[in-house]
Amino acid sequence: MSSDALLTVAPQRWARSAYGRLRSLWQRWFLWLLLAVLVSVLLVTVVWLAGRHEVEQVQAQLDRDTADAVSDLRSGFQRNAQSLRATQAPGTDRAKWNDAAAALLREHREWLRLEWRDAALRPVEAVNTPYRMRLLDEASRGPEQSDVMLACAAARKLGAGAYSPSHYVPIAGGGGIEVMEFCVPIDAGGFLVASYSLRDALIELVGPTLTRGQEVAFTETDGTRLVALGSSRRVGTRVFTSQQLIDLPGAALMLRVDGWRAAPDLFPNMLTALVTAISIALVSVLVLLARDTRRRLRAERDLADALAFRKAMEDSVITGLRARDLQGRITYVNPAFCEMVGFTPDELMADNADAPYWPTELAHEYQQRQARRLAGGMPPREGFESVFMRKDGTRFPVLIFEAPLINAHRVQTGWMSAFIDVSEQRRIEELSRASQERLQASARLATVGEMASLLSHELTQPLAAIASYASGSLNLLGPNAKGDQGEVAMAVKRIAEQADRAGQVIRSVHDFVRRRDRTREAVAPQALIDAVLPLVRLQARKLGVIIEVVLEDRLPAAMCDRTLVEQVLLNLARNAMQAMDSPDNVGSRVLRLRVARAVAVGGSTAADDARRWLEFSVADLGCGISDDVAERLFTPFFTTRADGMGLGLSLCRTVVEQHGGALMHEPNRPRGTIFRFTLPST
Ligand code: ADP
Repeated sequence: MSSDALLTVAPQRWARSAYGRLRSLWQRWFLWLLLAVLVSVLLVTVVWLAGRHEVEQVQAQLDRDTADAVSDLRSGFQRNAQSLRATQAPGTDRAKWNDAAAALLREHREWLRLEWRDAALRPVEAVNTPYRMRLLDEASRGPEQSDVMLACAAARKLGAGAYSPSHYVPIAGGGGIEVMEFCVPIDAGGFLVASYSLRDALIELVGPTLTRGQEVAFTETDGTRLVALGSSRRVGTRVFTSQQLIDLPGAALMLRVDGWRAAPDLFPNMLTALVTAISIALVSVLVLLARDTRRRLRAERDLADALAFRKAMEDSVITGLRARDLQGRITYVNPAFCEMVGFTPDELMADNADAPYWPTELAHEYQQRQARRLAGGMPPREGFESVFMRKDGTRFPVLIFEAPLINAHRVQTGWMSAFIDVSEQRRIEELSRASQERLQASARLATVGEMASLLSHELTQPLAAIASYASGSLNLLGPNAKGDQGEVAMAVKRIAEQADRAGQVIRSVHDFVRRRDRTREAVAPQALIDAVLPLVRLQARKLGVIIEVVLEDRLPAAMCDRTLVEQVLLNLARNAMQAMDSPDNVGSRVLRLRVARAVAVGGSTAADDARRWLEFSVADLGCGISDDVAERLFTPFFTTRADGMGLGLSLCRTVVEQHGGALMHEPNRPRGTIFRFTLPST
């Protein structure tokens, strides 16, 4: 998803419910868990199957070995039978048979004794093995010897060699051996009997094929062990057993082979080792994958958080934001912008040539502006003003800041604009301009009034002097003056009349100026201060002055002519700021306006009296007032400034005194001046 597309996604699509998030998280972990369980089961099964395969292979090998041993045994017994019969080949010469039998016994260690018996099983000749002490007692080897009888009876019946079941022959020094008789009938009548030592038969006939870790044994068909050969079982090994029947004529013997291998063999063979190695690799990959997923999840969560944070930021800013692509289509708008123009995001992002918030009469001009922008024309950095139209058709001024929209690959993908609705600002500016004009007009009026008042005051005396000189002159001329004197008297009378008229004019002007007394009203001190603050601030900003306003709690309203008192405050504040505006004044520039209940007025300290008065003070940290300036401070037209009129303070004093209050000044600490004046409260 491109960053632009991300930006245009509707907010509700971002606000995934906590439940949905939890579910998808659970689903993801459940799948991982399932995968891990399946892989574990698969691995365990494969390892188990490999182990079983190994066991089967070992068993099969053992079975093969056992079958080989059985066939070796059978052919060994057969060869032995033929060799035995061959001792009768030269004829029934006893001496020759003895020699042949002795030679045969030297070759076959498994034989203990060879006997030649007649048809009644009586011994004719007998030769013992040279390898052992005589084991078989001559006395016990009579015709009645049961095993021999059994074997020979079977041999007679079969007409071929037959074996007896094994029997135990004790040895003189203790112990004994298992012996099996073999009886073969001879052509001349009678039998040849060979006594097999079963243990030696195992050694001679099976021994050479026996491998290490194997035990071979003859057992009865019921499992009774007769003789055994081979290494005994080691601890911690696993036994594999295979047994097969050696079906000998007249006797049934079992050959049992036990093989053992190290039991808990982790890697019994290559296959298991390979499977295990692959399993370990698989598990490692799984672990790495899980770790990677966890990292991805964390990154995803961080990204979601960052996006949510950005979204919250975009939604809560009061500045309207809008993104356009390089074709001029709107790709994103924030809620503040929608609220500003009154259109929904869909209406704004509709594919129109003209934006819906362009005033119809200005659309052409805006189109040209947009074309310039799309052609690469950079907008002014400090922004520019324009007029937009709300959905209801009302126009409003906006301040626009535009900047190229650069994506992560440092490629410009469009333009980003920020809008500030400046209609309220314009309204306040208009208000403040109007109030400034009003104050300035009233200031001019007040100054003119003051001047008129001063002039009238100053002119009253000369006019009175003119009038009295005129009446003096008339008296001197007398009432009956004639001729030239009469004309002079007439002129002097006219002068007196005109002086009187001038006096009346001046009085009426004075009366007119004083008539404002009647416009007194109750005004809250805060309202008086608020009225002048915007103008004071304008100048303060220019001169780098900090303004502090301190109002006592629960002040009563002042009974005053609002406009005139505002004028007084403005004059004093201006004088104070001008006193601080000198290059020598390097300290802090603070103008402090304060309103409190007056402590004393006109020397009266009566508490009752004080409660009825308010004291306004304007304190500065300026140059202060020297003694000679202080002397002439309230003199009309006295000023120390090149552009000053010298009427401000005298006007102030007139106004304050008209209200019955007093205007005073005193040095401020550490420097500067404090001007105070009092006004009656309600
Ligand atoms: P203008 O302001 O036209 O000069 P004002 O009557 O208001 O006339 O002031 C008369 C003079 O008093 C000023 O020129 C100035 O020298 C002095 N003055 C007034 N206020 C202050 C003040 N706060 N600090 C020092 N000097 C002042």
